[in-house]
Amino acid sequence: MVRLKKKSNFDVIWLIDLDDTLFFSGGKVMSVINSRMTSFIQKELLINFEEANKLRVEYWKKYGATAKGMRKNHGFSFETFLGFSHHLPSFEAFIELKPYIGRILSRLMGRKYLVTNSPKSYAIKVLSRYRLLKYFDGICAFENMLINSEIKCKPSRLLWQCILQETRAKKNYHILVDDTLANLRTAKRLGFRTVWMCEYLRKRRCWNAQHSYRPPYVDFKASTFKQLLRLDAKRR
Ligand SMILES: [Mg+2]
Repeated sequence: MVRLKKKSNFDVIWLIDLDDTLFFSGGKVMSVINSRMTSFIQKELLINFEEANKLRVEYWKKYGATAKGMRKNHGFSFETFLGFSHHLPSFEAFIELKPYIGRILSRLMGRKYLVTNSPKSYAIKVLSRYRLLKYFDGICAFENMLINSEIKCKPSRLLWQCILQETRAKKNYHILVDDTLANLRTAKRLGFRTVWMCEYLRKRRCWNAQHSYRPPYVDFKASTFKQLLRLDAKRR
């Protein structure tokens, strides 16, 4: 269950994504994690690489997270599965982080929470390595997304509802900053304000004609992380 610190009802709540929002990973972190997931499945279920890879994708599509499928169908705990898949001793090699991100986070007014579908240990390791942990009031990671005995990760509407209850702030005091449109769409439906972080879309080579416009559920399209300061200033 999500547990976030409650303060004043008038605080703005920044909900900030990790990969490709705070820094550029270009899917490299994800591709290493995916291949570790496949090798775990292959080794533990005694199947070949193709079958294991197919199962990984199948569970991800069916349950929204491969870990959910592995727990439900094969009894592996999140800790065991994610501990193996997210064991990345050399993660720095895949991450490009701008040196001013900490300064921007420190200047944003309001409470800041990291909201990531990755496991908590990975989020903490990355934030600690780049000295960003101190800027966050809390972390909502994969393990914290257990709602009614089911993991509800982004873009689940139930997750946003749970965060809303925990923070006890008004809906439109929540600002979600994320590079994934699906997450912004469900958050907007609930009444959150939405910032589409586009800084790394071109670099990830996933830029297409669709990305040149602003979808109706996106309130602010940020081409760099620095633009959050402009948004914050306008808001005050
Ligand atoms: Mg992301």
